[in-house]
Amino acid sequence: MNPMSKIIVIIGAPGAGKGTQARLLSEKYGCPHISTGDILREMARADTPLGRKVKETMAAGRLVSDEILAEVIRTRTSQPDCNNGYILDGYPRTLEQARLLEELASKQGKKQILVHIIVSEEELVKRLTNRRICANCGKSYNLLSDRPKIEGVCDLDGAPLTQRSDDNLGSLSKRFEEYRESTAPLIDYYRQSGRLIELNGELPEGEVFEKLWAAIDGANN
Ligand code: AMP
Repeated sequence: MNPMSKIIVIIGAPGAGKGTQARLLSEKYGCPHISTGDILREMARADTPLGRKVKETMAAGRLVSDEILAEVIRTRTSQPDCNNGYILDGYPRTLEQARLLEELASKQGKKQILVHIIVSEEELVKRLTNRRICANCGKSYNLLSDRPKIEGVCDLDGAPLTQRSDDNLGSLSKRFEEYRESTAPLIDYYRQSGRLIELNGELPEGEVFEKLWAAIDGANN
């Protein structure tokens, strides 16, 4: 069975590697990688009341409302490129969002494959404060463990590397708090339903990907 007739949901704390793994899966299966963080960052660039509200919420490390996310996710997943399946990175983050996704999956006739990438908080802080992102292609680097070949420049396209405005200690503590309060109950719910695939996200990127891929294949059989 084609794994991409599914919705692959990647859950994990900020910095767990959701985006990196989703990007690799998307390349492998040729289906869209939908990052709600990226969509919201794009919205936040617009000088409109909604854009300003989203920008403020993200800068504070808080979660954007379930209503806004519902609109974002409905609109994006109804695009034709999602017909054969898609990968969600950063959604759902609350029980309410998970409920909406169940509804959407059943309307779209797609099964969800739920994956949780686990990384300790100590490691997450190290990763996030040293994270740099290509302003053009979005590739992520780490100044401690995965430096670009030339300082400040993306290996892939030579564009400048930037730091996300919410990757600072102030926003981070709020982001972790939101994760513990809103997202951890969702993980418990998925775990109890016996559908959650859990992976050690502290292994090297390539090993996490191999395990992820094997788990997705297994979930299809
Ligand atoms: P990310 O790029 O996934 O780390 O998300 C960055 C920020 O975008 C989060 O800290 C939230 O402010 C917002 N965000 C992304 N996805 C969601 C979501 N599913 N629900 C609420 N807020 C979100």
